[in-house]
Amino acid sequence: MFAALLLAYAASRSSAVVSTPVFFSFAIPTYAAVVAALVWHGIRHSRQLEKLSITDTLTGLPNRHALHLDYARICRKEQELAVALLDLDGFMLVNDHYGHAVGDRTLRVSADIISEICQGEARVYRLGGDEFAVFKSGPVAATLLEGLCRRIVERLAKPVRVEERRLTLGASIGLARTTAAQQLGSPELLRQADVAMYASKRGGKARCTWFSHQFDASREQTREMDEELRSALANGEFTLHYQPLIDCDSSKIVAVEALIRWPRPDGTFTAPDTFIPVAEESGLINPIGLLVLRRACLDALDWNGITLSVNLSAAQLRNPEFPIQLGQILEETGFAPERLELEITETCLVHDPVVAERSLSVIRNFGVSIVLDDFGTGYASIGFLRRFRFEKLKIDRSLVSQAGQDDGSRAMMLSSITVARAMKMAVTAEGVETEEQAQMVRAAGCDQIQGWLYFKAMPASEIPQYLDRPIDIAATTVAAAIETKEGKVA
Ligand code: C2E
Ligand code: CA
Ligand code: CA
Repeated sequence: MFAALLLAYAASRSSAVVSTPVFFSFAIPTYAAVVAALVWHGIRHSRQLEKLSITDTLTGLPNRHALHLDYARICRKEQELAVALLDLDGFMLVNDHYGHAVGDRTLRVSADIISEICQGEARVYRLGGDEFAVFKSGPVAATLLEGLCRRIVERLAKPVRVEERRLTLGASIGLARTTAAQQLGSPELLRQADVAMYASKRGGKARCTWFSHQFDASREQTREMDEELRSALANGEFTLHYQPLIDCDSSKIVAVEALIRWPRPDGTFTAPDTFIPVAEESGLINPIGLLVLRRACLDALDWNGITLSVNLSAAQLRNPEFPIQLGQILEETGFAPERLELEITETCLVHDPVVAERSLSVIRNFGVSIVLDDFGTGYASIGFLRRFRFEKLKIDRSLVSQAGQDDGSRAMMLSSITVARAMKMAVTAEGVETEEQAQMVRAAGCDQIQGWLYFKAMPASEIPQYLDRPIDIAATTVAAAIETKEGKVA
């Protein structure tokens, strides 16, 4: 183009000395060439801009905007349209462990893998972060897309090579479909796929889930419960009950576990298993958890030096403020940190081990113990136990009850106790309901027993009467009856 401009400039300079016909025969085509070059350059530039606006710069894949444009172009022509939303399961860990440069390379490698599987069959997009979409239209689009997604899940379940590293990622996928007749717009289709993707995550990750309208209904219920929880917190509706842990040797109460209760103004009770997951999702678990901690520390202050166990949610452990808040509560209440143990489950650690490890080490420095709750329900390995060094393991009720019935579960329970002992961890058997179970876990080497055989959870005011003396099982059935009368759900 510069050459054309120079030519035009030279033509205008020399125009004074050349004759008029010569001038016209030379200058007009030159000007025309300049204008054409400018127009061509402008078009090329605007095309480049347009391409940039629909391309993800990191992976070179089309982006979210491109997906909406493609959908608008295709939706009237095709009978069936389906979209899959894919989220990489382990990507956060890759970023945390290896930094953003490796994270970026991992995204490029993942983009290549997904594109290779979908090549020629469906279009792949990167929506942002570690989220990708796959769009398929035409006859039986939904079935074909599901097949592709299953292959992607299978492939990403295997380690992925990023330079010299082998990383395990995994993919959770949500699928949504529509027909031309339904006239569902692309934002709604993507929203549905997103809801389905979260169902895949909740269901255990590394899977595909189709959107169902029931998901929306349960979302609505969750939203309602979230509002009710907010007002319950503001109105001070939550209370605490305590379930004793009995020492196997002395038969005395050596600890109590604080369990939250929600007596509703209408006289009904909602079980913590129902409302805690809702509070976890909305983040409300943070203020609720602090309330539990503060209340429990105050209640247990005068309970003759026994240990206080408080449950901690994954969301609380993920909150970087938590260790500071815990320190403040210990200071305010004057509760001895050595008397406090926090119960966490494996999921607290699996999803974000780096942050969790950091927080746990601060908490331990206060003198507070960490207990692995619900052991036997997940996949906790010996390596896992060694990495996090728990002070105690709580063997889950399901394992205790199964151990009484089949040899496999019994062997698993026994080996868990052996491993815990070898790692210098104490062991509590949870959910012990019968004399036979109590005898079995005692013989297996458990240190403490917790379960309805001895006590159900009870209000703080009833704990002191049972302290400092061996527990007679027959007498404790009274305490159990009280809680049943309250309508407590197990
Ligand atoms: P968890 O931590 O495993 O607590 C033990 C649960 O088993 C309690 O149910 C307890 O009442 C019940 N249980 C104890 N012994 C027996 C028994 O012998 N048989 C049977 N069938 N059940 C027994 P609860 O109080 O309904 O709590 C359920 C779960 O809710 C807890 O399980 C815990 O995960 C969560 N939770 C309760 N309170 C809190 C809290 O303050 N914070 C957090 N984050 N979670 C809590
Ligand atoms: Ca617990
Ligand atoms: Ca438990």
